[in-house]
Amino acid sequence: MTRTTAIFFLFAFLFLAIFALRREEAPSPLTRTQMLMGTVVEIRVLDDGAGRYRQAVSAAFAEMLRIEKLMSPHLPESDISRISAATKPVEVSAETLEVLQTALLVAAASDGAFDAGLGRLIRLWGFAEGEPALPSADAITLALEGVGPNSLKIEADKIHKLFPRLAVDLGGVAKGYAIDRAIDILAAAGIKHATVNAGGDMRLLGDRSGSLWRIGIQHPRQPGQILASLNLADRAVVTSGDYERTFEQEGVRYHHILDPRSGYPAAGCQSVTVVARKAAYADAMATAVFVLGPERGLFLLQNSPRAEGMIVAADGSVKVSTGLQEVIVWP
Ligand code: ADP
Ligand code: MG
Repeated sequence: MTRTTAIFFLFAFLFLAIFALRREEAPSPLTRTQMLMGTVVEIRVLDDGAGRYRQAVSAAFAEMLRIEKLMSPHLPESDISRISAATKPVEVSAETLEVLQTALLVAAASDGAFDAGLGRLIRLWGFAEGEPALPSADAITLALEGVGPNSLKIEADKIHKLFPRLAVDLGGVAKGYAIDRAIDILAAAGIKHATVNAGGDMRLLGDRSGSLWRIGIQHPRQPGQILASLNLADRAVVTSGDYERTFEQEGVRYHHILDPRSGYPAAGCQSVTVVARKAAYADAMATAVFVLGPERGLFLLQNSPRAEGMIVAADGSVKVSTGLQEVIVWP
């Protein structure tokens, strides 16, 4: 080999080595956060040259804010406030209709454990706004008036209430829907690998260039600790926990997931994590399974082909649906 060829090969080698090293480094992601729906929302884009997707990320945040406003029980002009105030069938936006359809589907599947008609009860407990406090038993009975199966119906794209004073609350499903809308916007902009994380409830776009996303599930009793991880692509992961919004009164802890049969917080679980394609469905299912408790909740998960999940029962024991067992990683 002549000297020149040797030098040529040396440079070629160095060039390839540097190139390979650069390929090893993950491309710099685009990460942005914003306060929305009472929590920190983070959007992360992992595509090469993620910086050029800034506008799509802004549009995704704007869409989440729009959904929050449409479905807020506090804004008098929102779809939800209009349904709650109505005494006749109401026309609402296509988005609210879609979320109510998911809510009614999960309500039927869960035997009414999920109920979008708990607006008065949730307001009574003070979980919707202000300081939550234990209501009187009479007030709870009153707030449950008209609640139950068939209390809400969709007919000819209008929302019908069987009981005129029924108030709607979509707090158990709307956050998931907002996450879905954000993902739709990112995907439509051509983004292949991204996550939208709203306070631990999230949806994953793509497969992280083949290496899968690894999602940690919060331990319900050890803050900051991971109970298990999931290796996933193109899925939503949503958790309902009894530790998320709570208050204590006379030594008893109360939380914000209410059992429509009793009007009191559901006692069977510490947390429920549901994995599905859509975050709205996963969100409603997590709330439903939580209310059903570990046995009936697991039964619902095993019989729902579009949902998998993990349940931490009140006694700390863990149940995992069959389909989730192959993607779960224990610490
Ligand atoms: P988070 O918003 O904290 O993630 P969840 O998805 O578990 O919580 O939903 C809890 C919220 O859902 C409550 O704050 C309330 O607005 C509403 N909710 C509570 N109990 C029920 C229920 N049984 N069915 C439907 N919605 C409920
Ligand atoms: Mg929910």
